[in-house]
Formats: sequence, structure tokens, C-alpha cells
Amino acid sequence: MALDNKVALITGGAGGIGLATVRVFLRQGAKVVVADVDTERAQAAADEVAHEGAPGAVTAVGVDVSDFDAFQAAVRTTVERFGRLDVLFNNAGIAGGKPLLEHDPEKDYHPMIRVDQDSVYYGILAAGRQFRDQGGGGVIVNTSSIYGEQAAELAFTYSAAKAAVISFTRSAAYELAHQGTRVVAITPGRVATPIINQFSPELRALFASELLRNTMTEPEEIANVVAFLASEESNVINGTVVSCDDGYTVFKQRFE
Ligand code: NAD
Repeated sequence: MALDNKVALITGGAGGIGLATVRVFLRQGAKVVVADVDTERAQAAADEVAHEGAPGAVTAVGVDVSDFDAFQAAVRTTVERFGRLDVLFNNAGIAGGKPLLEHDPEKDYHPMIRVDQDSVYYGILAAGRQFRDQGGGGVIVNTSSIYGEQAAELAFTYSAAKAAVISFTRSAAYELAHQGTRVVAITPGRVATPIINQFSPELRALFASELLRNTMTEPEEIANVVAFLASEESNVINGTVVSCDDGYTVFKQRFE
């Protein structure tokens, strides 16, 4: 299996794309740490999917990824539990927003930047150092978004953070290449997870209509891409953005 014996830390692993990735990784032979700010949901998720992997191949850890010390502790926990770290999926995130001129920076900018942007930097640092200390290698997959590459309604802060994730990916790949570490970003489009299910049925239908298959992407479809990027089969993909938006970008171009 492509991820046989790889050790992966998956942030935001208690739900959505993160949990789908936990499942795919387990099925492909990986050992997985489910990391989430919601410790109870992380533990419940690990219990729920345990049968999909080898015995003892999944464990849970509570972590607020916007706290660097906590992120480093999650990496340490991973190494204590499974002996090493091979893959970090920097996936935890929050969404939402309001019109720019109604912003209160303390409510509508800084908190989201901490979770969606700073955490990715923290993860790159913590995992990059661990990869260095264990002799090099390792893969970091960062979750950006289609909104990281374009302006969008009510998404000023989210877009800024997701654009930074793309920039971090390029620069980190450049800086860490000497130790054999790969860093890649993905840009999902519209994925059927709680983050998007909070919107009205009408808005979700509109979202789906913007994809070329005219249906919301399933979290497993993104997880399959992440598993490929984490595997050695994708060694030539580094420092770049892998679009997994079901043609959203092409759809938008029809109007340009
Ligand atoms: P989700 O809400 O289902 O999952 C996000 C998970 O992150 C949750 O389990 C949540 O508890 C966790 N989390 C939130 N804040 C955290 C923190 N501070 N520390 C640790 N964990 C935290 O959403 P999802 O759709 O699976 O989103 C996963 C990633 O994909 C996010 O970065 C999101 O921005 C991105 N994304 C989603 C879509 C989409 O359409 N769903 C599209 C593009 C990008």
C-alpha cells in the first residue's frame, strides 16, 4: 500500500476533509494521529475509524493549532506514539466572514488569521524541524482554497489566509528541499463538510452548480488527492498548488 508504515499527523482530523483523510490513510497502511481542537470529537473519530487500519494504528490528540507550543507538543506526541513523523496534513481551518467595512479587526481578522494562516506556519516549523532531526525527508500538505487565488464575497480574511498558505508552501518547499522535505498545497473548491453545510440549501445548490460535475465534492475525493501527495508516487510534485476544485476555475473563466 502506498502509505505503508508512514506516520501522519492530520490536523482538523475530527471531521470533514480531515476525517476522510484519516480513513484513507489508515486503509493505505499509515499510522495516524487525529489532531483537533475538539479533543472529544478527535477521540470519538479515532475510535470510530480504528477498525479501518492496522491494530493500534490510530490515536487522537487535542490541539489548538493556532498555539505554536501546542502544535509542537502534538508533533512530540506523534513521535512518542509512533516513533517518527512522515506526513503533516496542515488542514484545520475555520470559515466565515462579513463585509470588509463592517470588520472589527479583533473579531473578524486576527482570530481567523491565527487559525487559518499562523497554524500552517507553525506546522511547517514544527514538522520541518522533526523531519530534519530524524535525517530528512517528509511531506507537508497544506490546505488552501480556491479563495486563496481569487477575491470572493464575505471572505476578505479567509482569502488572505489561504493566499498566505500558498506562499508559505512555495517558500517552505524552497527552504526545505535541501533536507528532502516536500511541501505542497491543495485548493479544494466546494466540499460537502460541516464548514459548508452551515450555508442555506439555495447557496449550496449555487456552489454545486459552479463545479463541472454540478455536484458537491465529497471529502473522500479530496482525501484521495492528499494520500497521493503524501506518497512517494508524487515525489515530483513539490512547492506548488494542486488544484482539486472539480473545474471551478474553468467554470469561472467562462465569464471572463
Ligand atoms: P470542517 O469544519 O468539517 O473541519 C475543520 C476541522 O478543523 C474541525 O474538526 C474543527 O474542529 C477543526 N479545527 C478548527 N479550528 C481548529 C484549531 N484552532 N485547532 C485544531 N483544529 C481546529 O471543515 P472542512 O471543510 O473539512 O475544512 C478543512 C479545511 O479545508 C479547512 O482548512 C478549510 O478552510 C478547507 N477548505 C474547505 C473547503 C470546503 O468546501 N469544505 C473548500 C476549500 C478549503
